[in-house]
Amino acid sequence: MSVKSQWNMACPKCRRDDCIDIVASVTVRLAEDGTDTDASSDQSHEWGDTSVAGCKACGHIGTVREFRSADAVSLPGLDGRETAAVLAGLRLVQRELSRGEFLPQGVHSIFDEDGAIEPLDADEIDDLCERING
Ligand SMILES: [Zn+2]
Repeated sequence: MSVKSQWNMACPKCRRDDCIDIVASVTVRLAEDGTDTDASSDQSHEWGDTSVAGCKACGHIGTVREFRSADAVSLPGLDGRETAAVLAGLRLVQRELSRGEFLPQGVHSIFDEDGAIEPLDADEIDDLCERING
């Protein structure tokens, strides 16, 4: 398990996923020698897409959203409606796979190129949908 696989985040500049710092809101316990996050009663760490994120490996700074879309891809030549149709098709296939049902014959032969390739599993389809810019 990695940051990239767990959180779908990587540095958009150097692609590393092991040096990302996020500016989050935390509750700290104030003590005479400073603040302690572990001693506070509320140990939640709140952050989201608009939180500032920084890569300690290369120094790149951006938002969490920018780090999340580091591996985002656009489908060349497709407009927004066409990309949406591709995403809808992928989600349909993913749903059928997770229900353990066979795809309709014509669709299945596209999905595995008539048995020539190992088709994506439901998790791989999920990852692909996440990467495609909708
Ligand atoms: Zn970096």
